[in-house]
This record gives sequence, C-alpha cells and structure tokens, in this order.
Amino acid sequence: MSNTDFVLAIEDLTVSFDGFKAIDNLTLYVDRGELRVIIGPNGAGKTTLLDLICGKTKASGGSIKFKNQEMTKLAEHKIVRAGVGRKFQTPSIYENLSVFKNLEVSFPSGRSVLGALGFRCTDEVKERVQSVASEIGLADALDMEAGLLSHGQKQWLEIGMLLMQEPELLMLDEPIAGMSVRERELTADLLQRICKGRSVIVIEHDMDFVKRIAHKVTVMHQGKILAEGSMEKVQADPKVIDVYLGH
Ligand code: ADP
Ligand code: MG
Repeated sequence: MSNTDFVLAIEDLTVSFDGFKAIDNLTLYVDRGELRVIIGPNGAGKTTLLDLICGKTKASGGSIKFKNQEMTKLAEHKIVRAGVGRKFQTPSIYENLSVFKNLEVSFPSGRSVLGALGFRCTDEVKERVQSVASEIGLADALDMEAGLLSHGQKQWLEIGMLLMQEPELLMLDEPIAGMSVRERELTADLLQRICKGRSVIVIEHDMDFVKRIAHKVTVMHQGKILAEGSMEKVQADPKVIDVYLGH
C-alpha cells in the first residue's frame, strides 16, 4: 500500500507458533491522536499483536507500517527509536531509585548531540522530568523511593518513563489491573491527556473503563478482528456478545 496518513497501518499480519496462527491475516489502522482500545477473550491474540508491533515477536507474514516505515524487519531498539513505546503488564521500574531518577534515566541520551558525546543537558532533562511528573500526577513524589509508591503510582511512573522518550505511539497492556477505583479514574484522565499529540493503543477488559477512554474499539477473537467501531456499535454486535460480552 502507498503512503497513508495513518500513524499505524497493519496489513495482512500473520504469526504462527508451531503452525498455530496466533495472529491471522489481521488488518488494522490507527489514526494520529487516536486512543484505540483492543478487547477480546483470553487467548485472542491481543498481547501477541503488541509484541509484533514492538518487534518482540517477528511476523510470519504481512506488514506493519509506523509513519509509513516498515517495522517488521527492524530490531526492537530501532522501533523504540522510531517512536513506539510499549508498557508491559508488570511494571519495570527501579524500586531503589527515586521517582526523579527513574524518569531521568529514561531520558533518551543518544538522541541529542550533547547526549551522544556523553554529556547530559541537565536543564533540558530536569524540565522534562518536571513536566512528565506533573502529567502522571507524581510531581509531589519526585524524591520518594519508587519502591514505596502505591501499585497505581508505579504503573503511572512506568508510563512516565515511556513519556520521557516522547513516543508518537504508546501501547499499554491491561494498565489498570490491580488498581483501586480511584486509581482507575485517574488513569482514565491520564490516558485522555496523553493521547493529545500522540496515538495510544490500550488492551483492557474493564468495560466501564473502556467506555470512558476509547475513541474506537477493536474486538479480537482467534487472531482476527471480530468487530470494530464505536463502543455502542461493538457492544450491540451479536457476534461480540456471543464470544465476549455475553460471558
Ligand atoms: P491475549 O493477550 O489476547 O489473551 P495472547 O496474545 O497472549 O492472547 O495469546 C494468543 C495465543 O497465542 C494463545 O493461544 C497463546 O497461548 C499463544 N501464544 C502467545 N505467545 C506464544 C508463543 N511465544 N509461543 C506459542 N504460543 C504463543
Ligand atoms: Mg494478553
């Protein structure tokens, strides 16, 4: 396919594990500034799809274009550098370091000329840490040891560590698992803020949460797309009720 305005254009994507197609000829487009939620039963292939986009798993066939650049042959770190950030289900923060340090070490040092020479442009880094910390609601916790944060705050910190790299596409796998009701609400607000100026893909099961955040919903089943559209549209789809929402 020729150049498109989509930030992410996935076409005919397939991955087989010993002959089992975890992703089966899947085509999906995500707009700039869009917050897309992917839902579907366990084993539908949702996490595998994110693994493919971030290069952790290599495709058996098909294409993944990020800003019109083919990603399927790129190494993981090059996909990160191209502007794709991915949060895994368990947070990988440095528990012994302060919130500030966790954010500081996530600043992409190789990107600026100063960074490439081994210097840190400290003012630039500090400013970015401050602005990301306020975005994730941890501006008052910068000196705190990350291990002492609540479960929800740890999740936000990891989102902040990804934001330090200013990704144009951010992917989150079940970000509210284990969170309190209040933390879920704050996470919904956070995701609505961070999708301004970038695209976000969220995998989630909690339908109230999905309703609050989704611009569009994609329902996956057996490695394929079962339905796609507004929350109202997919919720009313008999196929979706049958394989997922009805249970
Ligand atoms: P979901 O995130 O929607 O619950 P997954 O993407 O984790 O689903 O898994 C989709 C299917 O692919 C499952 O049947 C799972 O067992 C299988 N699968 C995922 N990763 C691998 C792998 N590395 N090797 C073999 N099978 C896998
Ligand atoms: Mg999963």
